[in-house]
Amino acid sequence: MKLMISACLLGQNCKYNGGNNRNEKVLQFSEGSTVIAVCPEVMGGLPTPRTPSEIRDGRVITKDGRNVDAAFRDGARQCLEIALREKPDRVILQPRSPSCGVKQHYDGTFSGRLTEGPGVTAELLIRNGFAVVDAEEL
Ligand code: SF4
Repeated sequence: MKLMISACLLGQNCKYNGGNNRNEKVLQFSEGSTVIAVCPEVMGGLPTPRTPSEIRDGRVITKDGRNVDAAFRDGARQCLEIALREKPDRVILQPRSPSCGVKQHYDGTFSGRLTEGPGVTAELLIRNGFAVVDAEEL
């Protein structure tokens, strides 16, 4: 099986705060598969660590009010290009992220509230027909 996976789930320190979301279930599930690790925010040119971002009114903004939508969408496009080329059987992504969230993401108020709907990378991959799975659903 070929899997595309959020790099932070695999233990890469690409999360906004410089840490990771290492997930033993994901690591176990991916054993024996070909794994393609992606971090759309880093691929879009954002630094690590970086200011946290959320989606508000369809655009990605940082907590201090900067519009980082273009970088997020550029990273998403690069992930789509890789997916189109590599044809992963499944894409496993980190929950609730403005990029990787599959079912929900934070609502743009930076208050910890969630709203329904995917992040920008998950949305693009779902729209293009890839089997995108929330890591919590494994
Ligand atoms: S963009 Fe995705 S892969 Fe990168 S740190 Fe955020 S959740 Fe993880």
